[in-house]
Amino acid sequence: MIKIQPVSHRTLAESAAAKLTASLLDGSLQPGVQLPPERELMTQLGISRATLREALKSLEKNHLIESRPGVGWFARAIDELNMTQAKEMAGGAATQASRPATSEPPTGPLRVPIAPEKPIHIPNLKKDRLGTFEFISWWEREKVAQAKVMVIGAGALGNEVIKNLSLMGVGNLFIVDFDKIEAANLSRSVLFRETDNNRSKAEVAAARAKSVNPQVHVQYLNGDVTTQLGLGIFRRMDAVIGCLDNREARLAVNRFCYWVNKPWVDGAIQELLGLVRVFTPGQGACYECTLTEQALRDLSMRYSCPLLARQNILLGKVPTTPTIASIIGAMQSQEALKLIHGLPVGAGKVTHFNGMVNEMHTTAYSPRDDCESHWTYGEITELPARAERTTLADLLRIARADLGPDAIIELDQELIVSLECPNCHTFEETLKPLSEVSFEAGHCPTCGVLRESTLTHAVSGDEKFLHRTLASVGVPALHILRAHNGIQYRFYELTGDLPEALHFRHFDRTGDGNGSPARGRVRLKGEIKLKDAPKSPARGRVKLRG
Ligand SMILES: [Zn+2]
Ligand SMILES: [Zn+2]
Repeated sequence: MIKIQPVSHRTLAESAAAKLTASLLDGSLQPGVQLPPERELMTQLGISRATLREALKSLEKNHLIESRPGVGWFARAIDELNMTQAKEMAGGAATQASRPATSEPPTGPLRVPIAPEKPIHIPNLKKDRLGTFEFISWWEREKVAQAKVMVIGAGALGNEVIKNLSLMGVGNLFIVDFDKIEAANLSRSVLFRETDNNRSKAEVAAARAKSVNPQVHVQYLNGDVTTQLGLGIFRRMDAVIGCLDNREARLAVNRFCYWVNKPWVDGAIQELLGLVRVFTPGQGACYECTLTEQALRDLSMRYSCPLLARQNILLGKVPTTPTIASIIGAMQSQEALKLIHGLPVGAGKVTHFNGMVNEMHTTAYSPRDDCESHWTYGEITELPARAERTTLADLLRIARADLGPDAIIELDQELIVSLECPNCHTFEETLKPLSEVSFEAGHCPTCGVLRESTLTHAVSGDEKFLHRTLASVGVPALHILRAHNGIQYRFYELTGDLPEALHFRHFDRTGDGNGSPARGRVRLKGEIKLKDAPKSPARGRVKLRG
């Protein structure tokens, strides 16, 4: 038999594993980072595929790397649990040629640096509710406590996500929902009680999140994410989680996230089926890329009768179980946790779970080159302006100073300028954002037929309504508006709204808010006291009431 390797040396796999472990120990391979592809590692280490796999298996067995099926191998943090193995495995990396082959650990002092990422800290589990997480090698408590996460939709999925994020101590939650609680929600919503009937889902979920973990700061919007949430709020989040049940809202969230370059985690459930997917701007497909031509056509047809579109969204209830909501909501929460830690997520991929046969598979979507969602705003100018005070004329003046006399403002929401009856030809000047005109109100009060609406979303300076405030034409607080001159765009944030629109002080007992302690608080003495839910969400602004 021909001996290629001298018997006194380590096997090739052992020496490859040692080199990789040394990289882990010296910090050149950071925890959470994906290892290079197999082919690259084979070249770098000068070994065959079989040898490489043997090396990777031994690293995995010693908890130094982990496999994410369909993605690859990832470095784990070196901590008190795997330090001994790491030292043993790396022992001879630098001097392997002179070391005898042995399975015994190397003797003598080791001069490998102890992982600097996570100092060993033994928490007080009797007093520290989040202490258990300290034992997770990659968990960064401070990052989790500082994180800002928006949860859009407080239904079955949203309840699970909010519960999980609160339990894990995600420090700042912004909860959005326009719906009210009804009896049927109680079979799948862990945060809701029988006595909550007819209260705002967002408000109750926010209050209960605070009672699940009083250390968490919570804010909510009892309103519609597609029209009532300022883009500046998205801009200040670390991650957005969509717990939605319709395409229109998903498409809106997808565009908002793309515009301000934020990752979002979508979840969907039906009966025992569910899916989870992360969309990160610029990395693979976005939500709109996943829609078929037919779905996009359906959406645009709905938009072609704008007054009816909004009503239809409210129908379409999907049958689900609390169990699938737990599974998918848990996966969404974990994806958010990875985003908070800067760990890799499979952006542009979907994981399907079939609870009937317990099968899970992940596939990548193909990004579309012509996808209309792929646009990220450039530099955003922060203005001391406020939606309630600033007029269209004010904003146009600012835009023209930057972009010249041809600058026009592009609103995100269509404005209904007028309604005209095709029958009796009565003409009504409306000037309301589309979201504030119901399908019924679109009908002629005399003839009862649907009136023709004149819509606009561009403000060029010739309009009669330039004196109107931004809020009155449907611009939410802390929004980011666009202006262009046909050549270039400019982006303006209503940063003057920041203290009121985003403060995470809704449930602050001390009331040390921004000078208006009575606003937006729910007291948590004994049973949570909630005001009666408002009849309709505040027009065009973030609601700040308790
Ligand atoms: Zn896309
Ligand atoms: Zn009429």
